[in-house]
Amino acid sequence: MIDYSITELSNALRSGKFSSVELVQHYLQRIEAIDPQLNSFITITEQQALAAAANADALLQQGNDSPLLGIPIGHKDIFCTDGVRTSCGSKMLDNFIAPYSATAVSKLNDAGTISLGKLSMDEFAMGSSNETSFYGAVNNPWDTERVPGGSSGGSAAAVAAKLVVAATGTDTGGSIRQPAAFCGVTGIKPTYGRVSRYGMVAFSSSLDQGGIFARSAEDAALLLQTMSGHDPLDSTSIDQPAPDLTSGINQSIAGLRIGVVKEFFSEELAGQVATAVQTALAELEKLGAVLVDISLPKNKLAIPAYYVIASAEASANLARYDGVRYGHRADDPVDLEDLYKRSRTEGFGTEVKRRILTGTFVLSSGYYDAYYLQAQKVRRLIRDEFVEQFKEVDLIAGPTTPTTAFKKRAHSDDPVAMYLSDIYTTAVNLAGLPALSVPGPAVDGLPVGLQLIGNFLQENLLLRTAHQLQQATDWHLQSPDL
Ligand code: GLN
Repeated sequence: MIDYSITELSNALRSGKFSSVELVQHYLQRIEAIDPQLNSFITITEQQALAAAANADALLQQGNDSPLLGIPIGHKDIFCTDGVRTSCGSKMLDNFIAPYSATAVSKLNDAGTISLGKLSMDEFAMGSSNETSFYGAVNNPWDTERVPGGSSGGSAAAVAAKLVVAATGTDTGGSIRQPAAFCGVTGIKPTYGRVSRYGMVAFSSSLDQGGIFARSAEDAALLLQTMSGHDPLDSTSIDQPAPDLTSGINQSIAGLRIGVVKEFFSEELAGQVATAVQTALAELEKLGAVLVDISLPKNKLAIPAYYVIASAEASANLARYDGVRYGHRADDPVDLEDLYKRSRTEGFGTEVKRRILTGTFVLSSGYYDAYYLQAQKVRRLIRDEFVEQFKEVDLIAGPTTPTTAFKKRAHSDDPVAMYLSDIYTTAVNLAGLPALSVPGPAVDGLPVGLQLIGNFLQENLLLRTAHQLQQATDWHLQSPDL
């Protein structure tokens, strides 16, 4: 049953081949047996999952036909889940039991999915390797000496290891696409505003976007359309109904114009990864797509602009963790200043502190114009460059990451080297565009991701293209030996 697609699982549940309780038990047993090698879960909600599965079975008996009813998934621990710890990978929120659920979680719950628990992540979603989690590093299921990518590393590893059918994630600068590439799964970050940010712990509010990891584009489409849609509780939510991402997924991509970004095949890109991505692009060509060379010269400005803007917003968002209202509080403070200082010193890890310091610096008087304002101008130029290209092409393509999954601790002493693993992903967030990563052919037993970037609100075209590729190839069906 672990190799079934969501549609196959749903049919099996409906025909009584197995019950949702049996399915959930099977996954919980896998988590117990396999996750000690991976450390992808922070919290396993076994009792709640079994109760929800019993409820799903009752609804199935009554003929309820929601396609997601009884399907076991997991949530990145950045999404608030009513009554369940929501740690954001930080000591600061280790004791935080969310009093409500994020809109994206509620929508998935209402559709009948069953959460098996909360998945690990870099602390406050800052990182590209899932090594900064307070709960320890997550291991890549393809090679446990390597990182799963970050920040949604727990979600990607759990989906790749088949510990859940699918998992939520968030992507501020690449945190869905990069771990999807490193773990060999399909991960989509929709257009900014497509999925509500209500109840999603804020890192950089103008960049953060929720999305999904699954083992196929078809499964991802089913889940993403369920999570999406306008939410009056999020003022940046797009005022449009949830898109239908599944019904057109079988349409041909013949004639589709795909722009291949020259700058993405730069010297940072490992040769074998370049070859694997070219092979995947050649498959799209066989399916009738037309590849066009394009240039995005401003892309090289994305990393510096991203780290200025993301850190600035993080420094403001993380000011709320003061040891007073909720979260970690230092013992026996002598006065208010001591309470603030020690609570934050003890509650936050090194990378989070680095971002807060950078963010307050670039926002401070005298430096604001030179850094923050400048970065906002660059952001506009990057967006405009994409808008121009989308007059000529339907999609934009390239690698998701410059290398395959790197070894643990490879970049721990060099934050800039770590930041550079996002060179092909951050521009998309600055522009607010949708993008996904799908597996291409592996290199030395490690997955490679093909990145596809769409115009605003073009999630359907992205998923259709990915699905057509997956109908013609079996790269997404490869799985690690565990
Ligand atoms: N790796 C990037 C960072 O550290 C992106 C993180 C993300 O998308 N959440 O900020």
